[in-house]
Amino acid sequence: MELQQIQPLSFPGIDAGAPFIIAGPCSAETEQQTLDAARALSAIGVKLFRAGIWKPRTMPGGFEGVGDCGLSWLQKVKRETGMAVATEVATIDHVRAALDAGIDILWVGARTTANPFAIQDIADVLKGHDEVAVLVKNPVNPDLDLWLGALQRLLGAGITRLGAVHRGFSSAGAHMYRNDPQWHIPFELRRHAPSMTILCDPSHIGGKREFVEKLSQIALDTGFDGLMIESHCNPDQALSDSAQQITPSDLGTMLSRLVIRSGKPIEDELTLLRQQIDDCDHELLAVLARRMSVAREIGLFKKVHNLRVVQPARYQDVMKARLAEGSMLGLAESFTQQIVQAIHEESVRQQLDLLSNNNTSDKS
Ligand code: PEP
Ligand code: MN
Repeated sequence: MELQQIQPLSFPGIDAGAPFIIAGPCSAETEQQTLDAARALSAIGVKLFRAGIWKPRTMPGGFEGVGDCGLSWLQKVKRETGMAVATEVATIDHVRAALDAGIDILWVGARTTANPFAIQDIADVLKGHDEVAVLVKNPVNPDLDLWLGALQRLLGAGITRLGAVHRGFSSAGAHMYRNDPQWHIPFELRRHAPSMTILCDPSHIGGKREFVEKLSQIALDTGFDGLMIESHCNPDQALSDSAQQITPSDLGTMLSRLVIRSGKPIEDELTLLRQQIDDCDHELLAVLARRMSVAREIGLFKKVHNLRVVQPARYQDVMKARLAEGSMLGLAESFTQQIVQAIHEESVRQQLDLLSNNNTSDKS
């Protein structure tokens, strides 16, 4: 089977065509916390419950999940609320344990999708298990091929109940969002798999709860089939991802406010293009902020070594090089010149600021 032929996921009790909402805590922490979240989410109509029990954390020392014992809590959620349950798997042991426990949906996390050996192991152990649905999150790095490759490995093992989750991409430096959305990548995935269920995870993209609603609306407006949202009864006390989790009650309010353009194919070209413009602007601002911080470091160096702030020869070289580069990229010379001038002026202003300030520490 080809990605082109993958059909939308379906679950008993969920209307075909309505957006999928998978919600639940980042991590199952205790049986009580898991059940409290599940009951509250079920009460607002959520039918698919998520909770991580094996948590691949970037840095050691964080909460790495409760492990296998969380499986029985998920089974209890399923028995008590009737919700289908989902958890993340990263190794063959996780897959075996989750299959034995009757978990309905497995998701492969971003760090695992980036590792073809791990994906192949998972695909091999899933062979023949068409009772389970598998969601593949995008890899941490913005590489569509890695994402496609992971889906193809699973497909190659006969797993056809497949979907994808867009959770944004890691990038260096300070950004408004925790993970850069780079929306064009999931849009491109859609081209390869037109009918496959593609969800958006606004919690991990935004990284802060105040962004979840806006990102969810963007996702629905641009043709995602649903949302995976982190929800915890007491977000501030959550053992992982506390800043981005929202309460079940806030989720209920948010869901009632979201505009759902059901059945509408991706046809709003303008929305998609504007989204790309927003992405570019976010990148531009992040790069400018990085550049200014380097300029301030240079300013400190000049101050310590008693050098002039403006070094005309260097400025001329920079301008000449940027004009040539801009012209190769198809930018009008006057435009490149204005931009480089404006950036240089601001760098000079910041360096002069440092000179007039006796404190050498970088406060901004
Ligand atoms: C998660 O869903 O809790 C998670 C760890 O996701 P990701 O793989 O997107 O970081
Ligand atoms: Mn999380």
